[in-house]
Amino acid sequence: MIRGSCLCGAVRFEYGRAVTQVGMCHCSQCRKVSGVASNAVIVVPEAELRWSSGEELRQVFRKPSGWSTSFCRTCGSPLPQKLPGAAAYWVPAGLLDDDPGLRIGGHIWVGSKAPWDEIAGEARQFQDGLPGRKSS
Ligand SMILES: [Zn+2]
Ligand SMILES: [Zn+2]
Repeated sequence: MIRGSCLCGAVRFEYGRAVTQVGMCHCSQCRKVSGVASNAVIVVPEAELRWSSGEELRQVFRKPSGWSTSFCRTCGSPLPQKLPGAAAYWVPAGLLDDDPGLRIGGHIWVGSKAPWDEIAGEARQFQDGLPGRKSS
């Protein structure tokens, strides 16, 4: 199992298997949520993720557009969030306490990245969302 936790440690979760490498999302919402140039996320099937503690501290913030994010009510760390229309969680990779054995697989929403954002490395870059998945 790969374990993850928030900054204060109250919220803990673990999962058995991710179905993606680490995706770097450069969209404007992810920049606000993370405070940095891009959000590093992996996708984990809903059935593979288990909350170990602190699930009651999860707070959801939803924009009028329907885009949402969840975070720890105590420390503000972003938390795993259900993907709309999919039986899967989007998991912020920075929460992981174990090495997930994954590497950066690609960059999405590169067309709307911050002007000061310099993308390094060889991973593929997509101007918008992943092919076949257009909502950010
Ligand atoms: Zn916390
Ligand atoms: Zn994003």
